[in-house]
Amino acid sequence: MPGFGPYSYRHSSVFSVVQGLDDMIPVTVKVIVRDWLNANHVLFLGEDENVLVDSGYVTHADTTVRLVREALGTRTLQRLVNTHCHSDHMGGNAAVQRAFGCPIWIPEGEAPLIEAWDTRALWIDYAGQRAERFDFDEVVGPGDMLIMGELEWSAIPAPGHDMSALMFWNSAERILVSGDALWERGFGIVLPGEGWHDRLDAARATLGQIRALDPRVVIPGHGQPFTQVEQAIALCESRIAAFETDEVKLARYVLKVMLSFALLDLGRLEEAYLAEYLASMPLYADYDREWLHLGFDELAAMLVHDLARSGAIVRRDGYIMAA
Ligand SMILES: [Zn+2]
Repeated sequence: MPGFGPYSYRHSSVFSVVQGLDDMIPVTVKVIVRDWLNANHVLFLGEDENVLVDSGYVTHADTTVRLVREALGTRTLQRLVNTHCHSDHMGGNAAVQRAFGCPIWIPEGEAPLIEAWDTRALWIDYAGQRAERFDFDEVVGPGDMLIMGELEWSAIPAPGHDMSALMFWNSAERILVSGDALWERGFGIVLPGEGWHDRLDAARATLGQIRALDPRVVIPGHGQPFTQVEQAIALCESRIAAFETDEVKLARYVLKVMLSFALLDLGRLEEAYLAEYLASMPLYADYDREWLHLGFDELAAMLVHDLARSGAIVRRDGYIMAA
């Protein structure tokens, strides 16, 4: 987001190759847990082919490439696959492709947006996010079977948060790579606006699909892999129930998540400048006009108050930053 005021970039990142999962996840599947700005990377090691799922955020792409290289050792990368095309999952695609020369596979429903580089539909400049443009080589469709890490994975549609998202399911080991459809404590935001009930219904149906699969372990797009799957599903279902009667509540929640995400990217933002920042992003202007009717000063005050109260941000020396 060049051109915008007083902020500084934060270059640190929390990550680890998950240890102690030997009894849960086959040795051919390496999970590189990142943070909330960068999606996790799942690296599948095979005899003939090594495959990476999701590439993180663009500003941390150097770290992504280094982590993947370390996990590969002397091997090379033959393919990059995305669960869906949000900036925290595909922002590093171009950098990974440059580093390893691998083809990129994306969910087929994302293809038109990526081809057109539709920055509004991809939530990029529309929401103050960034990503490096890339070209894809192949698409993955619902029901397609992929061999990754010497295991068979079926691509399962996971609409809701992203209507074109896919999950990858291995029935032999009962492992699900869920993307943003299910985390240990939540799932990716669902947008208000036209079709919002359909999106919430889709998110609920995706959770039902996961319940029917009965995974032994879920490798999520953010956070640690987990085994308490029913508990995670039930939490998400209760959130959906709370939103489906109140579109304004959903709109407020989306703005809070989007601002928290932007703060992870920016590092910090001068509180006095926040209203101006919000006014510069079409997302906030649109949502305020449609649902909140506060004006940018009041909107800024509301977001800071709510996010500080929930512990998502901290206020210090006139700045706000992600907690
Ligand atoms: Zn997402």
